[in-house]
Amino acid sequence: MQLKEVLDRTHIVSIPTKTNFRGVEFREIALIEGDTNWGEFSPFLEYEAKAAKHWLKSAIESAVTTFESNGLDFIAVNATLPAVEIEQVAEVLSWFPGCNTVKIKVGTKEDLERIREVFRINAGAQIRLDANGLWSVAEAKTFLESLNKEFGSSLDYVEQPCLTLAENEKLKNELTFPLKIAIDENLRNGGNLEEILKVADVLIIKVAPLGGISSCLQLIEKVSIPIVVSSALESSVGISAGVALAAQLPKKNESPLPFGLGTVALLEGDVVINPLLPVDGKIKVEKVNVDLGKLKKYSVSDSRKKWWHQRITDIYNLGPL
Ligand SMILES: [Mg+2]
Repeated sequence: MQLKEVLDRTHIVSIPTKTNFRGVEFREIALIEGDTNWGEFSPFLEYEAKAAKHWLKSAIESAVTTFESNGLDFIAVNATLPAVEIEQVAEVLSWFPGCNTVKIKVGTKEDLERIREVFRINAGAQIRLDANGLWSVAEAKTFLESLNKEFGSSLDYVEQPCLTLAENEKLKNELTFPLKIAIDENLRNGGNLEEILKVADVLIIKVAPLGGISSCLQLIEKVSIPIVVSSALESSVGISAGVALAAQLPKKNESPLPFGLGTVALLEGDVVINPLLPVDGKIKVEKVNVDLGKLKKYSVSDSRKKWWHQRITDIYNLGPL
């Protein structure tokens, strides 16, 4: 699509979040209307044009391409627990009915209390921890080893414990018990895949920051460890791209299901008639139908529209997508 066409076909919305997720209380999203499909362009506001470019490529791909499922009707998803207050944990978990695996954001305050609260509510839960690279090797090691003593067999994996790949490798070598390490940021911030695969036991794949479903499929071709397709707090339009990818994963990447695609549950509203919300621990593999009334309900001011149009223009000015 040419720039003018993209701008003409773009609708901007702002959807309140239910919790303060990464400091975000409203999620601004640009939706691009294709002839038969929609694409979501929603890099966080602070992302610069160069990083946001992958997201735009992904959005346009989704708007102009129909991806078929390989026959799956549902995919399993985990609950996602942001760093909320302890009193709010039960409420957040209730937004993910049937999700026995809980991905818990860690690396801030009260991590252990929050984890204990999850097990108080669901003693049989499996947990995934996501530190977003906030721990030093020593902090990660101390925390994880004491957690292993308390909840050992319930730990599925730890995602991006430390910032750099070298630190994550060091942690892997120093841990005194077996724990899978999932790599997220080191991959989507442009890390070398071969180096990453020396450290990662699980790879987190996010469609938008990696430039779209086709790019992700090409990358996955080179990977034989389990893949967990995940999201970045998107509306159901963005999530549907993740679902389309998850439903196409080659058999060789036997995944430690569930995927991290249940996050529409963290938004106060949505832009489609059939939101991709978890039911019975799963979300349905289906085409989403954008609701024009909701686009209107969540529409933004003219100045915000202008800001987004400029953002898209800046990306086009960097060169071909
Ligand atoms: Mg992550």
